[in-house]
Amino acid sequence: MRVVDINVHTLSSAIEPPQEREFYGGVRRLLKRDFALATVTTADGLVGYAPAAASSSAMREYFEGASAEDLADLLKTHVRDALAGVEISKPEDFHEAIRTLGLPTKLESEALSVVDVAYFDLLGKERGAPVYELLSDACVEPDPLELYASAGMYMEPEGYAEQAEALQERGFSAYKYRPGLGPDEDERTIRLIREAVGDEMDLMVDAHTWWKLGDRSYSYDQVVELLERFAAYEPFWIEEPVEPMDYGAYRRLASDTTLPLAGGESEESVAGLRRLSDTGVSFLQGDVRHHAGFTGCWECVERCADRENVTFVPHNFGTNLGLVANAHLVAASPEDVRLEYPVFGDGVEAMYPFPLAEDVLVSTLEVDDGCLELSDSPGLGVEINESILDEYEYIEGPWTEFHYDEE
Ligand SMILES: [Mg+2]
Repeated sequence: MRVVDINVHTLSSAIEPPQEREFYGGVRRLLKRDFALATVTTADGLVGYAPAAASSSAMREYFEGASAEDLADLLKTHVRDALAGVEISKPEDFHEAIRTLGLPTKLESEALSVVDVAYFDLLGKERGAPVYELLSDACVEPDPLELYASAGMYMEPEGYAEQAEALQERGFSAYKYRPGLGPDEDERTIRLIREAVGDEMDLMVDAHTWWKLGDRSYSYDQVVELLERFAAYEPFWIEEPVEPMDYGAYRRLASDTTLPLAGGESEESVAGLRRLSDTGVSFLQGDVRHHAGFTGCWECVERCADRENVTFVPHNFGTNLGLVANAHLVAASPEDVRLEYPVFGDGVEAMYPFPLAEDVLVSTLEVDDGCLELSDSPGLGVEINESILDEYEYIEGPWTEFHYDEE
């Protein structure tokens, strides 16, 4: 295929009214969610789509200089110029061209991801095959894919328990939530959740707040001690309990706790994922939107499949376009894993409203009993709802803010 154009539309979905969530020692404000839709057009007139979502990590400010706007500008100028007119017969062709731009690691990985996801969408459309078939010869019957519900953030411990129960009633077999109310309240939270849902539901603890509490961030010893207390409630994994890229802390913690550790969403590149996979984490959470697309993540899937002690489970948090992209990866994966399903909306089971997450696609995704019915149509198998381009104007500024109490 020959690329003739790359374009990006940056959009925002306002959270109205803005939400304030109290954590241990401060308040987190939630203002909006951003989304960028990338299109790659070929000389044959085919269009491949990809989410270009540099800001979709909860830790946006962790990556200063790699915002959605920075990425969009880069794709529309340097990356477009490097690829326009280039004949592409395999992913290496454009991976090489993007690498020669000499971008900072994080931006390079994001740019690779966008073009790679769009490339597989295009390749599938050319060949009349869904992406999961292009990734793995072995995959024949991907449906239905099991999901885990990802929601809870900073509320009364009783609120998390109520939410977990509501999601269990909707058919989800696992619930991920974000603690950050202080060690004692965090322990009370997992106890109440476990009491509410019984032993059947798996609980994933996304602990990234523990190192984001300013002066009240938990020390390493506090984390170890808290995980000892958590063990009684049998969490399925503990995600990002220490700062990303502190590989020494991950390695140490893996031997100081009996609980399985997870991480990877904050890694800047596939090389970072490889490093993290050697620290003793049990679950490696790459994301096709951030880690060199299908090509980069598939390398990690295969690496993990060859090893007994670490499983690749994609991170996914954003719109349904990103969900579908990561779902193709899971469908092709040799390991049986559940995909992260962010629950948006107004109800007790939801995190916050994010209508653009669903509006991005023409059809509503079929999620039944905690499972996703993935289309076997060519490429990503989805149709983009073009009306979002007018409906969701971009809003300047950060999507979330952490405000810490004065001492
Ligand atoms: Mg996370």
